[in-house]
Order: sequence, then structure tokens, then C-alpha cells
Amino acid sequence: MSQPQARIHLLDPLVARRIAAGEVVERPHGVVRELMDNSIDAGARHVEVYLQAGGNESIRVIDDGAGMGPEDLRLCVESHATSKITTDHDLLSVRTLGFRGEALASIAAVSRLSITSAPSDGIPHTIEVDAGSIRNLAPSAGQQGTTVEVSDLFFNVPARKRFLKRTQTEASMCRGVFLDKAVGFVDVEFRLYLDGELRHFLPPGTIAARIAAAYPERTEPALLHQLTGSGEGFTFALIAGEPRAARKDRRQLQVFVNRRRVWEYALIQALEYAYRDYLHGGIYPVAYLFLDIDPELVDFNIHPTKREVRFRSLPEIHRRVVEVVSSHLRQFDRTMSPFVAAEPTLPYSTASPPGEMRVSPHPATVFDLTRVFDPGLSDSPDDPAGAPASGTPTTDGITPAIPDFRYLGQVMGVFLIVERENQLYLVDQHAAHERIIYDRLTRGSGGQELLFPVYLDIGEDEAKTLDANKDELSGLGIRIERNDGAWALVSTPAGISISAEDLAGM
Ligand code: ADP
Ligand code: MG
Repeated sequence: MSQPQARIHLLDPLVARRIAAGEVVERPHGVVRELMDNSIDAGARHVEVYLQAGGNESIRVIDDGAGMGPEDLRLCVESHATSKITTDHDLLSVRTLGFRGEALASIAAVSRLSITSAPSDGIPHTIEVDAGSIRNLAPSAGQQGTTVEVSDLFFNVPARKRFLKRTQTEASMCRGVFLDKAVGFVDVEFRLYLDGELRHFLPPGTIAARIAAAYPERTEPALLHQLTGSGEGFTFALIAGEPRAARKDRRQLQVFVNRRRVWEYALIQALEYAYRDYLHGGIYPVAYLFLDIDPELVDFNIHPTKREVRFRSLPEIHRRVVEVVSSHLRQFDRTMSPFVAAEPTLPYSTASPPGEMRVSPHPATVFDLTRVFDPGLSDSPDDPAGAPASGTPTTDGITPAIPDFRYLGQVMGVFLIVERENQLYLVDQHAAHERIIYDRLTRGSGGQELLFPVYLDIGEDEAKTLDANKDELSGLGIRIERNDGAWALVSTPAGISISAEDLAGM
């Protein structure tokens, strides 16, 4: 019997690199991140980022760091080429942003790349790489430091290129990465140019000054305070915004570990938790945590772009962060938050003095919970929320049947205490409110026609997604139509208070 031919073969190294590149550089902002990391690792004091067409056309990063000689230039675009570690043991002490030696090789595989670099003791050279193949390496003009230019990203990988979004979207993602780096490294000067226009100039300064300069539209520097703390194997600096600087989104809740922005839920939660007496559901503090931790206690090597991180002693860090923020916040009045006072979601007080647990003055009343959140929902308008009610289902066909329960009161401005079938429940009032809105949406409350349609500013990809989901959206009362080639929102869900503009934005 003849042997069947092997069906498995080793991939051509360039093909393998092109495929792997997607993990490191998904889109332009991944390139921006990797190039800025390299500049910072090279000890640059000044870093300039230039984007053409949101990075879709080209991304250029110029630094005044250590630079590279011709041999290093040849090597730096190879896979697994790095000057930062030698053995895997070095991972335990690595302090640089890069260490995997993959970024330039990945970028080179999927673009046209040109690097001009000069070390302090050598003449400048330029290397040109096209889709992973070195075209040229020769002496050139240039100053100490490095200029990396990446053009035509994914020109040779059409499947990926199709996923690039329009200029504005890519530019805004790149800007996000740029600001994350700038906030992590306040001792370095950064500039960002979009299509030749200077958008951000961030001179070196304090952390608070950098944050305020990076997000001028969102931050009032006078409301930011710097705190510090430490524990076994770690120290941290913290920028804590005053409660009245609070926001309706989490964008100003940021965590940096060894100067890298990470999406570490437990630490973001620690910050939120520390503010729990001052801000409640849906309102978020302005707080930036900069954790500096012994590399032995942390593992960044679990995610290709190092967004995630694993800690050895998370509870200890969590505890210290909460302690430091909480003791700082004691000086503030809990009723100072603009939103706490302004949001009459409940007929009860939502603010009570720090440390004190207060039960609302409506003990032992029994009523329909949905009315607490939304008095307008009741079909008998003269039956005010908070009045004793039977807890039986309402008859409007919208409100879900809620079995009998006993409402005992509200604590900490956030939780409702409810007794039902001999069990005690703590209900997060904001989560419950969101749930009610969600239930109403999914049950199909119908749409409310807009007097003037709101036109949607969307690209091809988004239009396709919208088109594919049109029916489902219409079931929620959100009707979208195409008029003269432009998409417009023509109805919003009835009975849900959201402005058409907000909905269109979403
Ligand atoms: P890594 O950063 O993980 O080492 P990269 O592929 O990003 O891998 O870079 C490879 C090597 O090229 C780096 O280790 C560094 O020695 C060199 N290098 C890259 N960018 C720069 C730069 N801007 N300045 C000086 N050296 C650089
Ligand atoms: Mg790198």
C-alpha cells in the first residue's frame, strides 16, 4: 500500500509573519503604540508622531533616542530580534515597554517600512523594507535618534485592509494611544500631527498637568490631587479628581502598571469602590492610578499587545489603593457631586453623611419596584411612587409581573433593601433601572417618529452593519432609513428618554 502524501507543510516564514502580524498590529493605532514604545525604550526625550489619513496612508514617529547602527538596522526588522532581553528569565526583571522582538518584524511584513537611525557615535543609515523584504540599506542624512515611517499599512493583505475604518475613526484611535503614552511618560515631550497639523503639544511636567493638557475638554486641573501609596513590592501615584469633577463615563478612570495603560478591571473597580460614598451608579470618578511594581510580581506576557496583566498580589494592591483614596476623600462633602443632587431617580435621599448607614423613612412599605424608578410608567397617575402598593403586576402589558416583596429601605444611596420569601435582597437601584429600560426595549415599546430625521455620519462598514441589523433595531423602535444615499434615524424607542442625537451618536 502506498503512503498517503503528507497534507501538512510548514508555512513560508513571510506568510507566517503576515498572519502573526495581525496579533500585534491590528490597525494603525497598534503601529503607533509599538513605535512610540520603541522610542520611549530608546530613552527619547522628544517624540513626534505624524499621521496621514489617520495612519491609513502613513505613520511617522521621530525620536531623539539612542538610535541604531547599520547592523542593528538590519536585525531590528527580523522576527524575534530584540536588544531588551536575552533569556526568558529576563522577563522577571524587564522594565522596558517592548521585549518580544516582534513589532518591527510584524509591521515590516504588512507595509512599506523605512527606518533612518543614527547612534551617538555613528553616521545615519536608512533601511527600506517592502512587505518584509529588505530593499535597501545605505548611509543617509539624519540626526541622532530614529525616524520610522510606515506607509500603506496592509497594502499586501487586502483581507485586513478592508477592515480599516475611515480616516477620522482611525485617527481618533491613534490619538487615544498617543495620549495613553503621553500620560504614562510625563517626563518626555510629545507632539502629535494629523495631516500636517499640530494637534497636541505636551511639554514635560507634573502628572496632573499632563492629564489636564492631554484632556483639556474633560479636566479641570484645580480639581485633581496627587496622592501616593505603597505596599510590599509596589508603590503608586494616584491622581484623584474631586467628587464634583465626576463624569458620566469611565474614560477618566485609568490604570497604568509600570507606565503601561492596562485594562485591569480589579484596579479600575478599586478606584470606583473608593468613591462609592460620593458617586453612585452611572457616575464615575476622575482617577488615574500609576502603579509601579516589581516586575517579578507581574506578568505582561499574557496578551500580544500587553493590554492585560497578571498580578501575584492583587488583593493587597486593591486594599492599599482603596485606603489611600478613601482617606483623601473624607475631606469632601458627600453631597457635593453635581450628579448626586441633580438626579431624582428616587423619592428618597441619595446622600447621607460619610460612614453612616441610613435607612429611608419608608420602612415596611410594599410597592411595585418599577414605579420607584419610573413613576411615569404607572397607569394610575394619582398613585404616587412610594405609596403603598400591592406589588401585583400592573395592567399596561409592559411592566413585568413582580411578585410580592417588602421594601425595607435604602442604604448608602445606592442599594434598596427588599425582603421576599424570607430572603433579604440588596438591589442596586441603577442596575435595576437599566434592567427595566432594557426589558422595555426588548419587549418592543414601538417607535416614536421624529419630526426631523437625524442624519448619521457613518462609513461603508458601519452602513453595512446597520443595514444588516435594520430589522432588529426597528423591533426596538429604532428605525433607520436611507434617503438619497445618506442614512438617517427616523424614529426612537417610545417611552425611553434618550435624545435622537445621543442615539444617532451611539
Ligand atoms: P522589542 O521592542 O520588543 O525589542 P521591536 O521589534 O519593537 O522589538 O524592536 C526591535 C529592536 O529594534 C529593539 O529591541 C531595539 O533594539 C531596536 N529599536 C526599535 N525601535 C528603535 C528606536 N526608535 N530607537 C532605537 N532602537 C530601536
Ligand atoms: Mg518594540
